[in-house]
Amino acid sequence: MSRVVIVGAGIVGTMHAVLARRAGWHVTHLDADAEPRSASVRNFGLVWVSGRAEGDELELALRARELWGEIAADAPGVGLRADGSMLVVQRPEELAVVEQVMERADADARGFRLLDPDGVRQVNPAIRGDVLAGLHCTTDAVVEPRLALSALRAWLEAGDDAEDAAREYMFHGGRIAVEIGPGYVVDHTGERHQAEVVIVCPGAERQGPIAELLQGAPLRRVQLQMMQTASLGEPLTTSIADGDSLRYYPAFAVPALDDLPPQAPVAAEHQMQLLIAQRHDGELTVGDTHAYDEPFDFAASEAAYEHLHERAASILGRPLPPVVRRWTGVYSQVLDGAICHRRQVQLGVWVVTGPGGRGMTLSPAIAEQTIAEIGSPR
Ligand SMILES: Cc1cc2nc3c(=O)[nH]c(=O)nc-3n(C[C@H](O)[C@H](O)[C@H](O)COP(=O)(O)OP(=O)(O)OC[C@H]3O[C@@H](n4cnc5c(N)ncnc54)[C@H](O)[C@@H]3O)c2cc1C
Repeated sequence: MSRVVIVGAGIVGTMHAVLARRAGWHVTHLDADAEPRSASVRNFGLVWVSGRAEGDELELALRARELWGEIAADAPGVGLRADGSMLVVQRPEELAVVEQVMERADADARGFRLLDPDGVRQVNPAIRGDVLAGLHCTTDAVVEPRLALSALRAWLEAGDDAEDAAREYMFHGGRIAVEIGPGYVVDHTGERHQAEVVIVCPGAERQGPIAELLQGAPLRRVQLQMMQTASLGEPLTTSIADGDSLRYYPAFAVPALDDLPPQAPVAAEHQMQLLIAQRHDGELTVGDTHAYDEPFDFAASEAAYEHLHERAASILGRPLPPVVRRWTGVYSQVLDGAICHRRQVQLGVWVVTGPGGRGMTLSPAIAEQTIAEIGSPR
């Protein structure tokens, strides 16, 4: 049976493993970390259709949302909840943007509804703060970033045929790929992994053989600050975004966007928006900032965290629960207008990275496209 070696077990590499198995490939899967701990476990887990650009990107996001549903039915440990999202509008200028967004032809496909304050509270009773209106998106969903990768690997390891499962899918954690070429990957222990096809999904990593594979690629890295609170003590029935998120997502690029007043200085300095996603155990993941200039500061900004607290309190009408964890994360973002950076860099050697802040959302559909380009196993 034909085999593919996948380097990288973040969500992009893992979804390539899932879609490759669906297409009938046997899979050898490597990651430098014993248990991957990069962008894919540091994110909100938002499967975020609402913000995607109209046209191809929205279509891909809707396909990805569909695939997430199918995959979660097989691997429920990914924790998919079809909760939707609420973009909370607090200023008249933000309302003007959202009204223009509602006039666009794709508003229905995204499942957008413009709600008054009572409507917002009916959908999400935890929103007790200052609300002018809400853009409810019913197609948005959330998964559990700390659980999804291991849930997907456990499902792959169980296999289609229990007797053949160990040949169908093999995961090697704690193995750094040090040499990559047509039909093979050598890891740092010296083991050589042979296959017809090699797919490298290195995320924001740029060391060793990855530097060579990505030389000259139109990519940048982006660093974000995040935090997690103790349990909210009540359900957050949708994820939440604030009005600053209108500035970051291409779906909201309507004429009224130019009339938004300037962001608060700290939000402008750290290119911030507020996003809140509730975890399955009630904790809240809260972010974020965006830093584009390397080298990134290794210290996180307390002023940025204070701003997130203020914004969240103004929407929830109560202080956030105590913070239990803080972290930063880095993703790789393609700069040439493509959905991601996907190239065949040598015969049968593919590199796939750079979906930016939409990788958790789009990864199943990106993987489906790669596997379709590679073709069926012989
Ligand atoms: C803070 C934050 C919040 C985000 N929120 C969201 C969100 O809510 N929704 C959304 O859609 N997207 C979100 N994103 C973006 C999303 O997380 C990323 O696009 C996605 O995780 C990228 O996945 P990846 O597999 O390409 O990279 P990664 O998760 O970085 O995985 C790459 C893996 O490759 C391995 N690797 C690299 N080089 C080698 C080597 N030589 N040998 C072996 N292994 C190697 C690494 O160890 C790593 O495990 C967010 C990102 C961040 C940082």
